[in-house]
Amino acid sequence: MNAKEGAEEQIRSLTGKLIELSTRIHSNPELGFEEEQACQWLSETLSDAGFSVERGICDVPTAFAARAGHGPLHVAICAEYDSLPGIGHACGHNIIAASAIGAGIAAARVADEAGLTVSVIGTPAEEVGDSSGKILLLERGAFAGAHLAMMVHPAPWDVVMPKIIAASMFQVEYTGKEAHASAFPELGINAADALTVAQTAIGLLRQHIKPADRIHGITTHGGDAPNIVPAHTRAKYIIRGETLKELEELRPRVHRCFEAGALATGSKMNIIGGSKPYAEMRHDPEIAEVYRRNAEALGRKFPDLGLLLERATGSTDMGNISLAIPSIHPMIGIDSLPAVNHQPEFTQHCISEAANTALIDGATAMAMTAIDLATDPATLLRLTGPQP
Ligand SMILES: [Zn+2]
Ligand SMILES: [Zn+2]
Repeated sequence: MNAKEGAEEQIRSLTGKLIELSTRIHSNPELGFEEEQACQWLSETLSDAGFSVERGICDVPTAFAARAGHGPLHVAICAEYDSLPGIGHACGHNIIAASAIGAGIAAARVADEAGLTVSVIGTPAEEVGDSSGKILLLERGAFAGAHLAMMVHPAPWDVVMPKIIAASMFQVEYTGKEAHASAFPELGINAADALTVAQTAIGLLRQHIKPADRIHGITTHGGDAPNIVPAHTRAKYIIRGETLKELEELRPRVHRCFEAGALATGSKMNIIGGSKPYAEMRHDPEIAEVYRRNAEALGRKFPDLGLLLERATGSTDMGNISLAIPSIHPMIGIDSLPAVNHQPEFTQHCISEAANTALIDGATAMAMTAIDLATDPATLLRLTGPQP
């Protein structure tokens, strides 16, 4: 039996367990940095499979690192497992987690013959938009020594190199002054009006931004009672640009919209966060091609999405990893249409038959990709050769 057959057999024997793990995480959604159960279940599964596991790495309590094998090519497989407020696993991170575990265990089983060192890194809080799990882990050395990183992410379709742009989440707070809204309105400073002016300015700004730029947000606190002039309001906003550079060009323009709200109403403004943005994804084309071949060998299809591929952009902290080491972040289809990511209907699709097939295919294709890369001398040299 060669390495690929060995890895495939391993995944076949793990299928029930991986689907059970995905379903369990799905039925117990945990928000970013609170994923205690998922972290425990995943790290225990890896530990039972012979990995040496460390939890709470890099001062991130719900992160983990699991290591197996001693081969020359060190692959890091990223597991995400956070959910979304109110709509559970509407981004299918249960599938990401289970496929990472499957790929990791399968690659580890053949690590010696294929020449692999396998790390499965548990990366919390992908959905938070700023200072997220992968960003903190990367800064604090969790990816040191890894030659490449990979993961698969559920979506309506398979896409080998999805367009992933830079993003930054921050909070805005306005402070005004309370007053009786009817008897003494002239004594109040209206912090909700500040937000209204800012939102109006942002709406107008949208005509003058680049096609890939995005500005979107929510009011998280709009006041306390209609008869009290609102003195405290808060909002969370995300801005996005094609690259970190374009994001930073957009940032001061959006900040000025918020300043306009403060200026117009006399409120005080405070912007919190936004200092550790998500980078654009730089897909490694060679690794992506190897993944595509392996996924197609399993019967997966990569439809030509044409312009939709340009338009349907998202962001992930895997982008930050991709600027540090060669990385891939293919989307894996779960046949969910018309439901798309971040809809409650998509949540339901993330434990469907198609979702379970996707997680097994994703695990298999990632393990096969790792083996192909490790056993191709030219690729091995490119990925492990002297770093500049
Ligand atoms: Zn996601
Ligand atoms: Zn998401």
